[in-house]
Amino acid sequence: MSVSQYFSADYAEARGKFLAAAKSAGAHLTHYRNPGQGPAGEELFTDTARVGPADATKVMMLISATHGVEGFCGSGVQVGWLASGLSTELPEGVAVLSIHGINPHGFAWLRRVTEDNVDLNRNFVDHGADYPANPAYEELHQAVCPSRWDDSSLEETGKVLDAYAEKHGAFALQGAISGGQYRHADGLFYGGNAPTWSAQTLRAIMKAELAEARHVATIDYHTGLGPRGYGERICVHAPDSPGLDRAAAWYDGDITSPALGNSTSAVLTGVNFRGIDEALPHAQVTGIALEYGTQPTDAVILALRADNWLHRHGDPASTQGQAIKKQIRDAFYQDADDWKQMIWDRGIETQRLALKGLSEG
Ligand SMILES: [Zn+2]
Repeated sequence: MSVSQYFSADYAEARGKFLAAAKSAGAHLTHYRNPGQGPAGEELFTDTARVGPADATKVMMLISATHGVEGFCGSGVQVGWLASGLSTELPEGVAVLSIHGINPHGFAWLRRVTEDNVDLNRNFVDHGADYPANPAYEELHQAVCPSRWDDSSLEETGKVLDAYAEKHGAFALQGAISGGQYRHADGLFYGGNAPTWSAQTLRAIMKAELAEARHVATIDYHTGLGPRGYGERICVHAPDSPGLDRAAAWYDGDITSPALGNSTSAVLTGVNFRGIDEALPHAQVTGIALEYGTQPTDAVILALRADNWLHRHGDPASTQGQAIKKQIRDAFYQDADDWKQMIWDRGIETQRLALKGLSEG
């Protein structure tokens, strides 16, 4: 198979390829059914494939589709790793747990969010405590999520966002919109008011698969930030923490940290990594998000705003709806051979370094 063939055109194809590749690799499969359905009425699952010793204390955990529509990228690497025979090259005592489609609803519907409009990567906060405040988002919510989506509403709201960027800088605008917010359930980058199905499923998977683990490496595959095709290893371990030092050593210093201000990502609240770290107090966890570029940030944000409008006010089956679905798919998945090759090369390099780090740690 060429690298491009590991990637799929939709969720159902991706799932089929993942299950077939896992079976051919002799992986142990489990399935978690999401209560919803895809746009064609298809059933939705998060699937896991485990390779390596059942009692391994060192485990590399790969996650795709935290942000549903970004799942094309991570799925391609997960499928290829199993299908190409690379999964047979494991260091002694190390297992790999590949979690496919942790947000299957978003993957199938070409949405970044879950079935309840929750950004899974903002959902891992303490829902019993006060939520993190995001006053900048409060100020911009109306403009970010207008009730009409046409030339005039785009022009009006664009002025508001441009003015904010002019005053505070483009990165501050990105942070205001994408940092995470907990007050507008119909808004963008909404972190939810309870653990969403995908968060519960991720916790259930870790409970079932990682109870014996003592060292866990996580790679959470994402798209939509940075130069096209480039994979940024974003690390959200605290500055000056052993975890950040370990990740820097494993990846030869080629990591970034939003907290240290050297990442394309703003500082975020409630990220997956927090939930993973909290669920594994018995293990040393070394985590990164591998974030690949697609289109310029303003185009990506525009696609997210359009998709939010579409699912609140529009009709996905309409001509305008179809155009918006293409817009958001293109914003998070570049359906081109050169892009897929870049995703693959960097993904496999990163996974090899994680396996090496685990085996030596
Ligand atoms: Zn993402």
